Amino acid sequence: MVQLSPEDFERPFAIGSSRRLIVMLGRALALRCPNCGSRGLLRNWLHMHERCPGCGLRVEREGSDYMAGSLMFNIVLAEMLFAAVFVAYLLITWPRSNWEMLEIAAPVGMAVAPFVLFPFSKLVWLAADLALRPADVRELRGREIRGREPRDDGSGSSSTR
Ligand SMILES: [Zn+2]
Repeated sequence: MVQLSPEDFERPFAIGSSRRLIVMLGRALALRCPNCGSRGLLRNWLHMHERCPGCGLRVEREGSDYMAGSLMFNIVLAEMLFAAVFVAYLLITWPRSNWEMLEIAAPVGMAVAPFVLFPFSKLVWLAADLALRPADVRELRGREIRGREPRDDGSGSSSTR
């Protein structure tokens, strides 16, 4: 029988406390770092800095599906918001809904919503991912851990800045 040490039990999907998740989601919706609450993650509305200026967390986390999941979440969120606004409009204006206006507003809204929601969806996705996969020291490279240089995993994919 194989004896396992505590180090053998990594917790890749350890869900933290619900309070921590709510705090991280609140920070994300305020466009702050879900991990530490710092501002300054956005370079501009459609581009993020590589790392949080406060805690050094990589905004694009490792994992082959992270980027695809982030983009998919953005599209799903935008389309759900569009559907909610569309249904609300119909409920409020029925039976005198302006279909001619909807023929123009609906496709424009669907095209614009992913861009408007981009930083929110990106940071909410990051918060949800952090809840499932808490950041380890390799991902954090900033003021708080300066002097504790994380080990290079040798993949060459990490920043060399
Ligand atoms: Zn941070």
